[in-house]
Amino acid sequence: MNIGQEVLEALKDEITEIEYKRYIRHLTYDTKKSTTDLAIFYAPNALVVNWIKNKYNDKIAHLFEVKTGSKVTVQITLKNTTERKKSKKAPEVKQSSSLLNPSHSFDNFMVGGSNQFAYAAIKSASENPGKVYNPVFIYGGVGLGKTHLMQAAGNVLQNRGKIVIYTTVEQFLNDFIRHVRNKTMERFQEKYRKCDVLLIDDIQFLSNKEGIQEEFFHTFEALKGAGKQIILTADKHPKKIGGLEARLQSRFEWGLVADIQPPELETKIAIIKKKCEINKVRLSEDIVNYIATVIDSNVREIEGILSKLHAYSQLMHIDIDLEFTKNVLKDQMNENHENLTMDKITEIVAKDLNIKPSEIRSKGRSKNIVYARRISIYICRELTQNTMPQLAQYFGMKDHTAISHTIRKINDLIKDDMDFKTKIEELTNKITASA
Ligand code: ADP
Ligand code: MG
Repeated sequence: MNIGQEVLEALKDEITEIEYKRYIRHLTYDTKKSTTDLAIFYAPNALVVNWIKNKYNDKIAHLFEVKTGSKVTVQITLKNTTERKKSKKAPEVKQSSSLLNPSHSFDNFMVGGSNQFAYAAIKSASENPGKVYNPVFIYGGVGLGKTHLMQAAGNVLQNRGKIVIYTTVEQFLNDFIRHVRNKTMERFQEKYRKCDVLLIDDIQFLSNKEGIQEEFFHTFEALKGAGKQIILTADKHPKKIGGLEARLQSRFEWGLVADIQPPELETKIAIIKKKCEINKVRLSEDIVNYIATVIDSNVREIEGILSKLHAYSQLMHIDIDLEFTKNVLKDQMNENHENLTMDKITEIVAKDLNIKPSEIRSKGRSKNIVYARRISIYICRELTQNTMPQLAQYFGMKDHTAISHTIRKINDLIKDDMDFKTKIEELTNKITASA
């Protein structure tokens, strides 16, 4: 039994049998790649990866420490199936990055208005590497798909036999420091300058790090000069990064700079459906729409949510219905919408419907005021922590029974009136995007 298996055996005593059978049993320990301070486990799918990371990572690390006496970083990752298949057929595959996630493919990437420019830029670089846009520089907020897109190009090119290096600035820096320390800089330079495609993630971390900027500059020049494709990502436009040498900044803009914006509702829906398909989770349209409205712009949350839903429903033997989904996601919503107030919600609804916020809170009975008030109340109830009496007081209603009556009425309307339902979804989306 290897140390990884021993640790999992020990973990068995600390968790329920169901949990063990459902999740832990499927882990395999990589005896080759693991070291004294790094333990690598593979899980069969992204849901199990997420679930184990969230729930058991610390426990596993602790058990390692107990058994080996030293601190170990535990890494749970997806089994890299493409790599395995390839190495069976051609054992002498070129040295290439195994850090590419095979599920980060173009097929799995949903394109919408918010990301089509970045998608087109990367796609064209993957079709004609080094020929059209070099470098391609993608920037945008967290969890919007930058790493996914960049790795999609990496996967395509790697499958075409190109040597692809994917690295984050942090790893690049660590690698650099190690080689400086070991006095093996030629090997470092050879590694990064001999590849066909260089993907560097999160370039903003180069900011104010002169030594590595210098080294990176020369790597860039060598690759660009040799017509090798470079793809970079960052959280902001090169001009806004700051603490960057002028020559680097200008080179980042030589090729094509494309941004990624937060996804629109339809794109979010498409992404959720895709993730369900990949992870073999079945959800009804209602639930998919609900999740799409609840999550903000950060698409990364989707996987966490699906994994939570899946795991809870399996552990508790409950089918995933809308009520169940709402309960599971309550924490998530509270976290996301902490800053959302009734004022803010009323203000956005009023603006959208072209009336005054004070009218929404008045006793006015005209049709459009009642309409706006219903929507505001409903959204306040869904997105804030306010109690029924608090809602009643805010909206100038008699007491909490008046509010619960209104909410029942709205729920009926949502069932019967498609336009009303759409309006609520649209506004909820607008409001959550503003939070
Ligand atoms: P970033 O690098 O911009 O922070 P990631 O590329 O890591 O974001 O994306 C976060 C998660 O969201 C990943 O699981 C990714 O697959 C998913 N994702 C983001 N955008 C899309 C999209 N348009 N289609 C499918 N999945 C997406
Ligand atoms: Mg990223």
